[in-house]
Amino acid sequence: QDVLIEVRDLEVCFDIKTKKLFRTEVQQLRAVDGVSFDIRRGETVGLVGESGSGKTTVGRAILRAIDPTDGDVIFHSRKRDVDLAHADAKELRGMRKKMGMVMGEGAHSISDMAHDLLRAFRPRMSLVFQDPYSSLNPRMTVRDIIAEPLIAGGLMRDRDQIDQRVREIAARCKLNLEHLRRFPHAFSGGQRQRICIARALVTKPDFVVCDESVSALDVSIQAEIVNLLKDLQDEMGVAFLFIAHDLSVVAQISHRVAVMYVGKFVEYAPTDSLFFKPRHPYTKALLSAIPQADPDATFNPMRLEGEIPNPLAAPSGCRFHTRCPMAQDICKAKVPEWRELAPEHFVACHFADEAE
Ligand code: SF4
Repeated sequence: QDVLIEVRDLEVCFDIKTKKLFRTEVQQLRAVDGVSFDIRRGETVGLVGESGSGKTTVGRAILRAIDPTDGDVIFHSRKRDVDLAHADAKELRGMRKKMGMVMGEGAHSISDMAHDLLRAFRPRMSLVFQDPYSSLNPRMTVRDIIAEPLIAGGLMRDRDQIDQRVREIAARCKLNLEHLRRFPHAFSGGQRQRICIARALVTKPDFVVCDESVSALDVSIQAEIVNLLKDLQDEMGVAFLFIAHDLSVVAQISHRVAVMYVGKFVEYAPTDSLFFKPRHPYTKALLSAIPQADPDATFNPMRLEGEIPNPLAAPSGCRFHTRCPMAQDICKAKVPEWRELAPEHFVACHFADEAE
């Protein structure tokens, strides 16, 4: 099928400095460790895991908002393929500007970071942040916020053309002309997220990372935003990487779902396959934490004990062995292989066949 983004053996490490009494120690944190997957044109891939699992780092490494330490991120554009992980400054200039100013000290608030990121990406990739309150510049009108990526990316210069495009995407995101004249503070959380989505999609990108984009919203508003994203995908053919910690939300929008634990993918499968035939004990535990609507439904909840381990001291072998009810001796000693157990259903567990 038509692959848009191909991620191979992606690794992202950070140096973490800890101050001891008379010295500073530097430890290497492996936030993403050997992740491989692909995203097809026009599909939504859900990425779930507890906080600290590395899912946001995967999204940002694909966009090169963070430099990967190793691995490849191939962006198959209609004209040619670009390896974003290894692209030099000249190649990246068309896709993004230097990110030091975005992620580093120059970015003093999330709205500045969002502003810089959206200026940087032209026009093929974009992102929607989690917090619709702090990711919009309070000093700009909604019209100017949505128009910003078009102007900063040099895609349009003519004011009438820009206004027309802004009105078009605003209408698709259910914002009217009156809304465009106002400032962000006049809007509720759900409306602000519609503004963020309009801003991300105004350049008609091929790929958008939605980083916990509905997590801060009420459940009813979450459903509205999820439906809006689905409608926009149908109309525009955009692919989403939908990052969330809530599997029930991910199920509503994703064609395929990846589950992440301490920097590694543990399962990746088509949504139905993952929900009805989960193979990894961690996925089963996440699924059994979803509240059941039917009071007569019988199911055996699988409770997860303890916290997600500190990635600076990741457990040996299978990283889930410290919390897994099925763990055996081999799990501590040997890293489980990433295997395809059913068509497109990948899992990393020594006993995945039995888990079914
Ligand atoms: Fe559990 Fe072992 Fe499978 Fe890891 S490899 S998920 S510890 S059974």
